[in-house]
Amino acid sequence: MSETWLIVKYLLIAATAVTMIFVLRARRRQHGEWLKQTAEMEVCEHLRPALSELMHRGHSLRRAELVRLSEEDLTLEIHVSPGFDAQEVYAAAKLEPPALVSERNVLYCKECWREIQGQD
Ligand SMILES: [Zn+2]
Repeated sequence: MSETWLIVKYLLIAATAVTMIFVLRARRRQHGEWLKQTAEMEVCEHLRPALSELMHRGHSLRRAELVRLSEEDLTLEIHVSPGFDAQEVYAAAKLEPPALVSERNVLYCKECWREIQGQD
């Protein structure tokens, strides 16, 4: 194999690696945007002040997922990082029932089946 061909081959490999980095970054950014939109759209009015408070404090969204609790019941879980003291955020965001704090340190709305939980 000629030396020129070897150089071209390594340059192509390097270009592919650089392209992959940009593609992965773009995908991560897209996913972040999707998470933000989904969380803002799907969080209920009772928990919205807590989500705003957490975003204001610099927490970041990690996941938003529907979790099946039973045949008929689904709950939307919004996971933020880092973890937080749910009771303290409840007070700071001036939440009221039906929003509550569970014994699992999770903010949840028993009327709308939504919850916000921290993860480290
Ligand atoms: Zn609600």
